[in-house]
Amino acid sequence: MRFATAIIIGAGQSGLAMSRHLTDSSIDHVVLERGEVANSWRMERWDSLRLLTPNWQSRLPGYAYDGDDPDGFMTMPEVVRFLQRYADVSGVPVATGTRVTRVRHTEGGYEVSTDQVSWRCRALVIASGACNIATIPSLSAGLPHQVTTLTPLQYRNPGLLPDGGVMIVGASASGIQLAREIHASGRRVVLSVGEHVRMPRTYRGRDIQWWMDAMGAMDVRYDALEDIERARRLPSLQLVGTPEHVTVDLNSLRKAGVELVGRLVGLRDGKAQFSGSLANHCALADLKMNRLLANIDDWVRTNGFNERFSAPQRYEPTDIAPDARLGLDLSDAGIRTLIWATGYRPDYSWLDVPVLDRKGRIRHDGGVVAAPGMYVLGLPFMRRRKSSFIDGAGDDAADISSHLRLGLARAAA
Ligand SMILES: Cc1cc2nc3c(=O)[nH]c(=O)nc-3n(C[C@H](O)[C@H](O)[C@H](O)COP(=O)(O)OP(=O)(O)OC[C@H]3O[C@@H](n4cnc5c(N)ncnc54)[C@H](O)[C@@H]3O)c2cc1C
Repeated sequence: MRFATAIIIGAGQSGLAMSRHLTDSSIDHVVLERGEVANSWRMERWDSLRLLTPNWQSRLPGYAYDGDDPDGFMTMPEVVRFLQRYADVSGVPVATGTRVTRVRHTEGGYEVSTDQVSWRCRALVIASGACNIATIPSLSAGLPHQVTTLTPLQYRNPGLLPDGGVMIVGASASGIQLAREIHASGRRVVLSVGEHVRMPRTYRGRDIQWWMDAMGAMDVRYDALEDIERARRLPSLQLVGTPEHVTVDLNSLRKAGVELVGRLVGLRDGKAQFSGSLANHCALADLKMNRLLANIDDWVRTNGFNERFSAPQRYEPTDIAPDARLGLDLSDAGIRTLIWATGYRPDYSWLDVPVLDRKGRIRHDGGVVAAPGMYVLGLPFMRRRKSSFIDGAGDDAADISSHLRLGLARAAA
């Protein structure tokens, strides 16, 4: 049994940023990582994926992107190199190849069992990721066994799919990117669309992330919102990072030949049923996007920046087929693969401390978990809107490390 004052589980951006802060506070700690540094980016992303956040937005405590393409979008090997270098220059004490199998409360701290040695600690930081498991709706049980199912965590490229058409359920960041790529490979693609957040890649000559950052929208705190639970459940932005900075939305996908259908509500006898809510979902997404663009225009005007940026513009409303189908016989339509792009959730199966709610979500207040000396990082809108982004790890880790340091000092006193 080994001891460290603090243990961090996970060497993604959140765990690395936290380690950097603990080092700066001279708190001895270890980072336990089941794979290698940046494991999620190495093992759980598809081949063509690039970050949807621009390079300049990859900022971590004491470290930032310093290449010659600040407005570009990193490929996965580039993200891995970026984070590995951060771990190296920060001297992160990481034990790779060490999977945490159980955490339980002991007097004055926690016992952390792993598939290597066991550890004890006074403070525990869970930075094991927000996207460990792809969410699959229960109606998947009605899928005929001839149809192969995948999640974005398993998908790699169109060449590895069985022959035939593909249905993708979910039209947020993952779903639209997969629909675009798989359709471009020459397959029939049906995209089932529920609630989504429409977003242009660029507006008035700047990347949309630049506007959100400049207006302070990414820094909005969790305790400033009336309904934080709703904000935490919002789907990811419909964005893709490409060298051409293209906007991929439902209009561009439909023009390319992707068939749009409503939310998947049933699977029976080889047939898929879709809700009639497609037009409503699209109208709502258009409305919210236009509200954001109007906020940007207001911000530009109020700050007297009109001369700095190109003129305001508006985008075509989402154009859906008036006769969007409500049902599809999967076999007749040649659908051989179904991809659940319906979101992700964390895996806490190893956490043997009663801190989960009945839906399996960890109970916390801005990352301070409802157990002494226990913290979590990297969850959507955990302390700020940017909490689950690379750019959000630093500020959250700074807050959490201060709380942890004070807790240790109080306990010592
Ligand atoms: C498809 C996709 C695209 C994304 N694109 C972007 C983007 O463009 N820009 C951006 O800023 N963010 C993006 N994100 C979001 C971001 O990467 C995630 O929210 C991430 O989970 C947050 O980082 P993290 O360090 O908290 O977690 P992760 O990067 O997931 O790191 C968690 C680490 O914990 C380890 N771990 C898990 N369980 C255990 C265990 N039991 N024992 C030991 N180790 C364990 C994992 O191996 C992993 O290395 C994307 C996410 C996805 C899924």
